[in-house]
Amino acid sequence: MNRNYQSFKKQARELTELRSILSTLTWDQETMIPTLGSSIRAGQLSTLAAVCHKRLTSPEMKEALEQLSEEPTLSLWQQTSVKEMQRQYDKAVKIPETLISELAKTTSLAYQAWVTARNDSNFSTFFPWLKKVVELKREEARCLQSSESLYEALLDEYEPKVTEFELDTLFESIRPKLSALLDRIQSSKQIPENSLAGDFPIHQQKIFGEKILTAMGFKWDAGRLDSSPHPFCTGLSPLDVRITTRYDEQDFSSSLFGIIHEGGHALYEQGLDLEHYGLPACEAISLGIHESQSRLWENQVARSRPFWEYWLPHLQKYFPQQLQGISLENFMHAINKVKASFIRVEADEITYGLHIILRYEIEKMLIGGDLEVEDIENVWNQKTHEYLGITPSCPSEGVLQDTHWSQGLIGYFPTYLLGTVYASQIFHSAQESIPELSEHIRAGRLYPLKEWLQKKIHQHGKTLSASELIQEISDETLTNQYFLNYLENKFSEIYDLKL
Ligand code: ZN
Repeated sequence: MNRNYQSFKKQARELTELRSILSTLTWDQETMIPTLGSSIRAGQLSTLAAVCHKRLTSPEMKEALEQLSEEPTLSLWQQTSVKEMQRQYDKAVKIPETLISELAKTTSLAYQAWVTARNDSNFSTFFPWLKKVVELKREEARCLQSSESLYEALLDEYEPKVTEFELDTLFESIRPKLSALLDRIQSSKQIPENSLAGDFPIHQQKIFGEKILTAMGFKWDAGRLDSSPHPFCTGLSPLDVRITTRYDEQDFSSSLFGIIHEGGHALYEQGLDLEHYGLPACEAISLGIHESQSRLWENQVARSRPFWEYWLPHLQKYFPQQLQGISLENFMHAINKVKASFIRVEADEITYGLHIILRYEIEKMLIGGDLEVEDIENVWNQKTHEYLGITPSCPSEGVLQDTHWSQGLIGYFPTYLLGTVYASQIFHSAQESIPELSEHIRAGRLYPLKEWLQKKIHQHGKTLSASELIQEISDETLTNQYFLNYLENKFSEIYDLKL
């Protein structure tokens, strides 16, 4: 094999290994670390992050990339890896080190300020920190900017190649439809509140969650399930994928849907092609495509009637008193209840998109210089009223609820909704390809879907872009149609809506 490529491959592999050590330390910090350990861990993480940055921007890497840029004999995996590494390299050298360390320091302090401000529901103590974060992110965007849109430079970190214009068009076409559907539901028959209340021992919740993960095809010898305050999935390699959930004794659905959601992410990570491990191409395409996998399992599969036709009797065996006599219909109503509410992470499938659009519009204005940080709270409350018909009574119900901005994650929110839209189009294609898919799900057989997703998406890593993948799977470009039809059909049935 080409000597230049061999040198590149070795460097890429070592960088992947260093990064997975970093992820292991981060996982440990979220799940296992003793309280006092955190203060030392922060230093360990930043030292290792600096080593990774140095490796990525080293003269050896520069040379390898230069020599391979015009190399005609590379395979698709090799070419994609070189291009992806070049993309990371360009980004890393464009941002001055002083800005990187300033951002790391500021976001760490801003995060702490956000925790306090949210607990006190007082935006004014967080405000100066957010102002600083926004200024630094604008500076970062100016270093990276390659189009007219400053915001797009930040978006590229999470969803490469998607433009602000494409997102605007997609979200603007969705927003009025979601609002209209919400209105129709709110003026239709009402579903009783919280019919799933009860005491659900955590131990039993865990065993049931594991059972579902097993049915989804989660490989236990290549993965783990633990608990943490914020559920997440981290792929250290296709042979070591770790997910977490959080348990609430009064509400089993919070941990269960968390497990299924993170399980969807985990199947993607476990499904990457091991043969190419270590190459930049052997990673998920984008956050949006990653999120499509979790949403698809959580919503299209696990909030559907066929799924619960099989699983409800099993769930009732685990919680015989708590769920005694609940009908499938009432259960479906309870897990699919639609109601305008303030908190994004508790939102139903319809209002969730409205929460995301609101954040997307605000962060775009902040980065574009069309909104001052001091005016965010007002704009947030106005938009919540406009889109959801409710107004937050305090900042913790509104502008202070999410951690993202405090951590400098600007450009991240839209991938949640984009992923949800991808999920509908992908699931529709899965139904076309596997005509008996509903029957499989109704019989508790989830592996045909898992195998289809692995074959069509997971094993290809980054060798396709998000738009190429969608085109390849569905034979058309991304459209809002499947998402809107899915919601319309599902909720018309649940809420007995008239057309
Ligand atoms: Zn997710």
